[in-house]
Amino acid sequence: MPLPQFLALYLHFPFCAHKCAYCDFNSHVPTPGEQAVYLQALGQEIALWAEAVQGREVQTIYFGGGTPTLYPVRDLAALLDLLRESFTVSPDAEITCEANPGTVDERYLRTLFAAGVNRLSLGVQSFQDEELCLLGRIHTADEAIMAMACARAAGCQNLSLDLIAGLPGQTLDTWGKNIRAAAVLTPEHLSCYGLSIPKGTALGERLVRGEIEPLDEETSVEIWECTDRTLTAMGYQHYEVSNFARPGFQCRHNLTYWRGGEYLGLGVSAASYWQGRRWTNLAEVPAYVKRVTAGQSVVEEAESLPAGERLRERLMLAVRMAEGADLLALRAEFGAPAVAALTPVAEEMQAAGLLEVAADLWRPTRQGMLLNNQLGLAFLAASGE
Ligand code: SF4
Repeated sequence: MPLPQFLALYLHFPFCAHKCAYCDFNSHVPTPGEQAVYLQALGQEIALWAEAVQGREVQTIYFGGGTPTLYPVRDLAALLDLLRESFTVSPDAEITCEANPGTVDERYLRTLFAAGVNRLSLGVQSFQDEELCLLGRIHTADEAIMAMACARAAGCQNLSLDLIAGLPGQTLDTWGKNIRAAAVLTPEHLSCYGLSIPKGTALGERLVRGEIEPLDEETSVEIWECTDRTLTAMGYQHYEVSNFARPGFQCRHNLTYWRGGEYLGLGVSAASYWQGRRWTNLAEVPAYVKRVTAGQSVVEEAESLPAGERLRERLMLAVRMAEGADLLALRAEFGAPAVAALTPVAEEMQAAGLLEVAADLWRPTRQGMLLNNQLGLAFLAASGE
C-alpha cells in the first residue's frame, strides 16, 4: 500500500482524575499501576509503526484524551523523544497537548514546552463555578484562569481554550460572560462546542429523571450567533463551525482531519485514516496492552471506503470550514464526473441559503455554518457510486 507523504499523529491517553458528568469519551480513573503499563504499551505500538512509516514526515502531533497531563511530565517528555527517534518529525511540527486546569502548574508546563510541546489546549469549559459544578469538572473558574497564567509564564505562545455552550439553564447573558472572560485572556485559539448529553452519563441520567432540561433551540441559535459576532469583532477568524483562531493560529492537526488528510492514531480507541482505509484501535486498556505486547494488531474495526463515499465524506467535512471545498483538488483526486454528480446537491443548498457556489469552490454561508448538520448531511446522504 503506498504511503502518504505526510503524517498527522494522534496519541490517546484514556485516564482522568474524575469522570465529568457529560463525558462519554474513552476515559476513566486509572487503577494503580495502569498508567505505567499503558505508557509502555503505547511505546510498543510506536515501535510497531516506526518501520512502516519511515521517511514520512510528521507535521503534527496531538496528545489527547482523557487527560494527558495526568502523567508526570517526564513521561510525556520521554514519549516525545521516542516519537522523534521513531518517526521523521518536522522541525516546525505543531505539537499539541491537551491539559485540564487542576493538573498543571508553571513548572510542569515549563518542562512540557522544553520537551517540544508548542501548543496547549486547555479544557476550561466555563468561567462560572455553578456551570463547572453542573459539568462535574475538577476545577474552579479561578483555577482555569491560573492555569492560563501559568501557561503564559511558562512561555506558551499558542494557547487554545475549550468552552462548552448550551448548558441546561444557560442564558445569552451567562454565555456572553464566558465568551468575554475567555477573550479577555487573549488565547490564540478558542473551541466552542455545543453540549451533548449522551445516555449513560451522569447528566444523561439526570435528563431521564427530569432534573434538567436541554437548552431550547431558540437560545441555542442566539448563543451561536452571539459567539460568532463577539469573537469575530475581537479579531478571531471563525474558521470552522466550532473553532475560532487569531490569524495564523488555526489548529493544523484538526485541519488535517477536515481537509481529508491522512493520520495515524495510537493508543486505545484511536482512529486512523490512510489511503482510503480507516480503522479504530481496541477500546479497552487490558486488551490493547495484551495485544500490543504480543506484537499483534490492535485494530478493532477497519474498512475501505469506495471513492464515491470518500468524496461525500470529504465534502461533509469541507463545508464545516469557512474555506469550503476546493473543487479543483477534488476533481483531480476523484475525477470531474464524480464531483459534477454532486452539483445538484450543492445547488439545492445554495437555494436554501446554506452554500455559496462558484466554479471551483463550494463554501458555507454564515447560515450554512449555523445549520451545518443539515448542510453536511445533504452531501453525505446524496446518492452516488
Ligand atoms: S476531562 Fe475530558 S475526557 Fe476526562 S472525564 Fe472530563 S470530559 Fe471526559
